[in-house]
Amino acid sequence: MCALQNSSRCDLPYAYLLRGAIDCHVHCAPHINERTVTAFEAVRAAAQAGLKGLGIMDVFANSSGLAALAMRELGHLGVDVFGGIILEPFAGGIDPRVVENALRMGYGPGTGARFVSLPCHHTRFVARSERRSAEYVAACFHVDDGPLDDKLKEILDRIAAAGVVFNTGHVTGAEAVRLVGEARSRGVQKILCPASYFSTDEARAAVSGGAIIEFSFFVLSHATAIGQTMIDAEQHRFPPVTLDSVTEKIAAVGPKHCILSSDSGSYVLPPPVEAFRELIVMIQSAGFDDEAIELMASLNPAALFAKPGAAGCPAPHAKIRDLC
Ligand SMILES: [Zn+2]
Repeated sequence: MCALQNSSRCDLPYAYLLRGAIDCHVHCAPHINERTVTAFEAVRAAAQAGLKGLGIMDVFANSSGLAALAMRELGHLGVDVFGGIILEPFAGGIDPRVVENALRMGYGPGTGARFVSLPCHHTRFVARSERRSAEYVAACFHVDDGPLDDKLKEILDRIAAAGVVFNTGHVTGAEAVRLVGEARSRGVQKILCPASYFSTDEARAAVSGGAIIEFSFFVLSHATAIGQTMIDAEQHRFPPVTLDSVTEKIAAVGPKHCILSSDSGSYVLPPPVEAFRELIVMIQSAGFDDEAIELMASLNPAALFAKPGAAGCPAPHAKIRDLC
């Protein structure tokens, strides 16, 4: 193995900001194409850099079982590893039974999914940006102005009961804002919206509705120049996002409502720890101080992804504003 694959150097500039941080969005699970690190390597690298949490995401499968295994094998390293389910069609789709399985998949109580995400690839928002056919777009997940789908209602109820994070997936800002409202009305306390493609007004609306908004390294990086959405042979790209558009939204809502993540693990990006450091450096270069970085990289993800019901854990989302 080359040195880079295990890269977790603690002496790189601003690496001190990684100490105590949580990268809640890492694609290090076994995958249909190459990853820079295995899940175990990701945990060891995170521990070496001083991270205290790692969230494993997988577009193709529930990751809570893998996270539980990582905790069983490497829990002594002090990194809180957690997983969850992205409800893509090939991972089971919008189905309450899939959510229930993910919530239970682990090694006993408290080790199952800590997040449930709506689709990240099979959404009309993504399909349209990929210029897919009308037939393909029509078959993708979306939220309109009509009544919410019964299965989605049941899923939200299960998320609320479990006290885990509801991730709105890659939908439009308007769809996300509606989903935030629906989720809150059904008792969901912890909501995360990937917001890189939101307008500033949509970011404000999601936050005022009770969500935390997430900004990831992936869409700020060269990875957007490479076709790799991977759901079929077409391998579309994600549109690139500018640092200015991200920092404008962070400034508009305030760091206390934002989370930073690497969204790394792909073979085209630096390994997750280094990708996370580079994002932090980018945000810092835009004028956000260490306190703001700590909020977005450590305190907010700690509060959001705390093990539900665990003694001594930070309060759930409703308390984040108080905490910060
Ligand atoms: Zn991702």
